[in-house]
Amino acid sequence: DNDPRIMRIASSMRVISDFPKPGFKFKDISTLLLDPKAFKDTVDLFVQRYAGMDIAVVAGVEARGFIFGTPIALAIGAKFVPLRKPRKLPGEVISEKYILEYGTDCLEMHIEAVEPGERALVVDDLVATGGTLGAAINLLERAGAEVVECACVIELPHLKGRQKLNGKPLYVLVESD
Ligand code: AMP
Repeated sequence: DNDPRIMRIASSMRVISDFPKPGFKFKDISTLLLDPKAFKDTVDLFVQRYAGMDIAVVAGVEARGFIFGTPIALAIGAKFVPLRKPRKLPGEVISEKYILEYGTDCLEMHIEAVEPGERALVVDDLVATGGTLGAAINLLERAGAEVVECACVIELPHLKGRQKLNGKPLYVLVESD
């Protein structure tokens, strides 16, 4: 894509090798947040796509999904639902375990945050294997929501995360290796 906004967003992120583990290539969106134009363009691109689509719920994945999900929710007039790591939410929760490279992880959601039939968008910064977004989709569907799409800033397409999304569409701004 040669949209200058996308090119600026892509070049505002950085890669940190061997973080958090040797061999890992960490895609760091914190430098995107330091460029107010790139940050605003990122949010605006998602808002343009989702405004007027009757989305009632924006579900953001802890922690970087909160950064992008909350301004999108405010701009499109949706509620924001945090999907959190275990034992952070004080109310009644439902939980979904998912598989990581080493071991498992888990996401939780307040059960009363979503009503059956509500149209939902899932937001995170990055999709790698797709396990995290797959768990997020399962939580929303267990609560009766209709997941319209998942939205991320970055996709690592070689990890084939789209295959873990239970057929739900994925929209990304930037692909990376
Ligand atoms: P996955 O469940 O494998 O799709 O991993 C996605 C989650 O892990 C997202 O919440 C990302 O923030 C984080 N993540 C996975 N791989 C990376 C990476 N290379 N750089 C930065 N974050 C990553």
